[in-house]
Amino acid sequence: MSPFTSDGDWLTVSDVVEYSYCPRKFYLIRALSLPAMEMKKMSLGREEAERNAEKIEELIKSELGDGEFIRGWRGVDEELRLSGAPDFVFRNEEVGIVPIEVKYSKFERLEAHWKKQIYAYSLLIEKEFGNKVERGFVVVLPKMKILEVFVSEENKLGIIKDLERMRRMLLSEKIPRKSSEWKCNYCEMNKFC
Ligand code: SF4
Repeated sequence: MSPFTSDGDWLTVSDVVEYSYCPRKFYLIRALSLPAMEMKKMSLGREEAERNAEKIEELIKSELGDGEFIRGWRGVDEELRLSGAPDFVFRNEEVGIVPIEVKYSKFERLEAHWKKQIYAYSLLIEKEFGNKVERGFVVVLPKMKILEVFVSEENKLGIIKDLERMRRMLLSEKIPRKSSEWKCNYCEMNKFC
């Protein structure tokens, strides 16, 4: 079983994001074993993050101050059976060690599932580095806007509760009901749902 592929009862931060967007989406991906299906928007975000990595790093330093990028880091929490790899992990005296995600969107506002992603990465960073994470950041492309996400103890506890709910849902084998139509319009699972 690999902690990075949602095998067995391991969950990834991507699972948390899908569950937060729509529980049915999470269920369909896991129950139909479609995690390898490339989600168009996720893939675009990742490609753009890689293509613009240098510019994004400059932006982060100009906004957060000079510091160090911890490259290639992947977090694993054996106790929570959760794993994930943020786009960037940055550290300096001012912000501590923080997760930074890159999103490709025409909107410049924080989506609820983006925030959950930052909360989940915060748990993994705390586990590995032993520091308290109280904020993270989202870089929105193509406008290169950096948005701050405040992370409270309650937010992190919410992720732990979500993980319990997600595992219960998979065990129940009961397909959750559909989400609001506007979400379906943006959802890659639409044709399977
Ligand atoms: S199409 Fe709609 S209901 Fe189905 S998984 Fe996507 S968001 Fe959820």
